Amino acid sequence: MVEILFKPMNHEAELLVSLQKIDKEIETHLKRKELIPLQIKELEREIDDLKKELKDLSSKIKETEKEIKKIELDIKSKEEEIQNYLAKEHMVKSNEEYRALMDQIANAKREKESLEEKEIELLYQVDELRATLGKKEEENAHKEQEIRNKIKDIQNEFAHIDDKLAILRAQRENVVKKLPGELYSQYEKIRKTKGTAVAYVVDGSCSECNAVLPLQLVIKLRSTGEIGRCENCGRILVYVPEKDN
Ligand SMILES: [Zn+2]
Repeated sequence: MVEILFKPMNHEAELLVSLQKIDKEIETHLKRKELIPLQIKELEREIDDLKKELKDLSSKIKETEKEIKKIELDIKSKEEEIQNYLAKEHMVKSNEEYRALMDQIANAKREKESLEEKEIELLYQVDELRATLGKKEEENAHKEQEIRNKIKDIQNEFAHIDDKLAILRAQRENVVKKLPGELYSQYEKIRKTKGTAVAYVVDGSCSECNAVLPLQLVIKLRSTGEIGRCENCGRILVYVPEKDN
């Protein structure tokens, strides 16, 4: 490819490019400033969730322990029931009565056995839950510490945003002072409506709206370093060799 001569950006073009760079940085910091409180809230919610997980496990354990106590009482009363039947054994007067009593004893014993099985199952469950709780307590404490560190970092970042903004605004003022007033108002007008006021020539097109630019305009911007206008989107156009690939 033939190397086409170009002139570096003129003073105005350079000022506009640095003004835009500063404005983009300010924008980024302002967005962070808005986002950080939400981010902290979200992280605090994560900590609440970790705590809730432990609380839920503890109440599950308490519930199961309560259930075990109840079953133990049931087992005890079943046992009393059996003892009562057995006490009646010598009082029965007929075979029929005797068989009925034996059936009642057998039933009560079966019921007692099934209660005992249930109790063993619940005791096992409680053991498992306690083990899980112990593990989770350790895990969640570790996770919570990580989240708290993250929150601290973000709070720290937040505390410094205003300092950074103050520096950028001073730099901005400095650039604006050097720009012709008319050009600055144009820049501001476009920035306020389109977000980005300065577009670059990239591959013969406008970097913002992608419209193909008239060849003569491209050659003019490249050879003079002056600023131009994109007829399609109205943005200020500059030619920067490293942007044009
Ligand atoms: Zn354009």
